Amino acid sequence: MPVKKLFWEDPYLTAIEATITGVTGDVVTLDRTIVFAFSGGQQSDSGTIGRYEILDARKDGLEIFYTLPGDHTLKAGDIVNVAIDWEKRYRIMRLHFAAELVLELVYQNYDRPEKIGANITADKARVDFFWDGNIAETFPLLEARIRELVDANLEIISEFSDEADERRYWEIGGFARVACGGTHPKRTGEVGPIRLKRNNIGGGKERIEIYLAGPGPVY
Ligand SMILES: [Zn+2]
Repeated sequence: MPVKKLFWEDPYLTAIEATITGVTGDVVTLDRTIVFAFSGGQQSDSGTIGRYEILDARKDGLEIFYTLPGDHTLKAGDIVNVAIDWEKRYRIMRLHFAAELVLELVYQNYDRPEKIGANITADKARVDFFWDGNIAETFPLLEARIRELVDANLEIISEFSDEADERRYWEIGGFARVACGGTHPKRTGEVGPIRLKRNNIGGGKERIEIYLAGPGPVY
């Protein structure tokens, strides 16, 4: 059985108890987890398993492998506390969803330009496109529409489209349904105010950088 990913069922969990299911040197697996591992451009969470700092979280298929310091003494069957750096995760959740809104609004309003990549950390998100000209020309529309969506505090549904394969999507009724396996807030208002910045990365590519411009709600 691959690890049960509680960060999908409840992305607001900050600490749980879990059982170690396997240990290979400094790498351990768990029966359940709240610690997201890098995928789809979303950075891994920081956190602890037992009293050990997680040095690396790696998703492979449906399993997640956590690397701990080499002197850890955990063994299969141990029950441990698992905790994440919530401040970092919540910034990532807000920036991730801001990036989802930017991407979807660009697709809906500008003839679906090709996306090259995306990356989300606790400090900023970015989305890159093949784009002729200056992508900052989209910012008045993007900023106005994002402000509307955030102010409307709409419900964001995050669910499985295929539970066996662990494929997920998010949906805002009447706006969009998008495949994504990241962690999303429950309401658009949680994103709060944002700021967009253009970065011309050359070769016909343009980057939209997204920053949080104010505090979000406190959990
Ligand atoms: Zn997403």
